[in-house]
Amino acid sequence: MALRSMGALNVEGRRVLLRLDLNVPLKDGKVGDETRIREAAPTVRALAQRGAVVIACSHLGRAKGKPDPALSLAPVAPVLARLVGRPVRFVPDVAGEVAKQAVAAAKPGEVLLLENLRFEAGEEANDPAFCDRLAALADVYVNDAFGSAHRAHASTAGVARLFQERAAGPLMAREIAALSRVRDDPERPFVAVVGGAKISGKLETLTALARLADTVVLVGGMANTFLLAEGGVVGRSLVEADLVGTAREILAGAAARGTEVVLPTDVVVATGTDAPARTAAVGAVGPQEMILDIGPATRERIANVVATAETVFWNGPAGVFEKPAFAAGTLAIAAALAASAAFTVVGGGESVAAVQQAGLAATLSHVSTGGGAALEFLAGDTLPGVAALEEGA
Ligand code: ADP
Ligand code: MG
Repeated sequence: MALRSMGALNVEGRRVLLRLDLNVPLKDGKVGDETRIREAAPTVRALAQRGAVVIACSHLGRAKGKPDPALSLAPVAPVLARLVGRPVRFVPDVAGEVAKQAVAAAKPGEVLLLENLRFEAGEEANDPAFCDRLAALADVYVNDAFGSAHRAHASTAGVARLFQERAAGPLMAREIAALSRVRDDPERPFVAVVGGAKISGKLETLTALARLADTVVLVGGMANTFLLAEGGVVGRSLVEADLVGTAREILAGAAARGTEVVLPTDVVVATGTDAPARTAAVGAVGPQEMILDIGPATRERIANVVATAETVFWNGPAGVFEKPAFAAGTLAIAAALAASAAFTVVGGGESVAAVQQAGLAATLSHVSTGGGAALEFLAGDTLPGVAALEEGA
């Protein structure tokens, strides 16, 4: 399906409704982490330089369909202005009279930032009347918020179809290109490394990756349930007892297809995340112990598997990496991807944070900040926000 790129839109002298992901953490009324604003800034700057009236919009936090001063986008405007290098006028309204007037007064090259979309109940409800009001503000539509594309909300789905001219912004286009390459056309061998806390919540993605990849490496808390499914002992580790059957099905499916599954053979255990840690063979975990990271032999095995790959996708840390005593596995996986010449993609909140903390983000082919949207995309789901951008949709 063809997506139009932002560069192909005629924006000069026209009003562009630009959906961004400015969902940043706020601390004491100030922006706590600028990463998302910094990523969005080049898109805003490009449109302004091309003479558009830029009407930027985003959600922030979990506003419940009505104004919540603690979740106002107002503190984001000065940060966006600094990072874009142009003034940004904050509009304390989403799509009412105040917004309409602000847009009418704006000149080409000017940037407006609307108030938090979720201050309107119509946003999450994808309400047609709200979509109409939002769409009436602009002539063309650009969506650069991949991380919200799995939600069928007004600003991501409903409003897009009201514009004859609509396009994917550069961040969105990059995410789709990288994740499509992994999902639809991976160079082989394709190695998927999946970890994190739990299987639930990632089950569809895990099942899809087990089908797509040549080798699936299972680490982190989710591997515990697989170890249990294979008859292992996991002490007091985090497990999902109700998913042991599902884990067995995934293993059987992989075996039937000839997909290699790599499970930990040694682990780092402790009786608590602040208790002294030791390395143990899988099978030698004590009844009071918890598996909190993968062990050195497993780390080496994974590095070897990754070294032979042409495509690697990684989601989910290998251990409780927030604690230095249990971070070695996660850091080893990050280093293995960094050292690889393969097409390497990492996705997911904590795994991306781990790669960034290790200073290795620039060495990977793509770092997906799409979170849940990236996992749903890999699972094969058509994301409502992407579908709505497609020509003729
Ligand atoms: P991501 O955000 O990358 O998709 P998840 O949200 O699924 O990853 O999981 C991240 C969390 O998993 C981390 O906070 C980490 O502490 C936890 N975790 C990893 N391994 C274990 C384990 N063996 N036991 C308990 N928690 C774990
Ligand atoms: Mg997470």
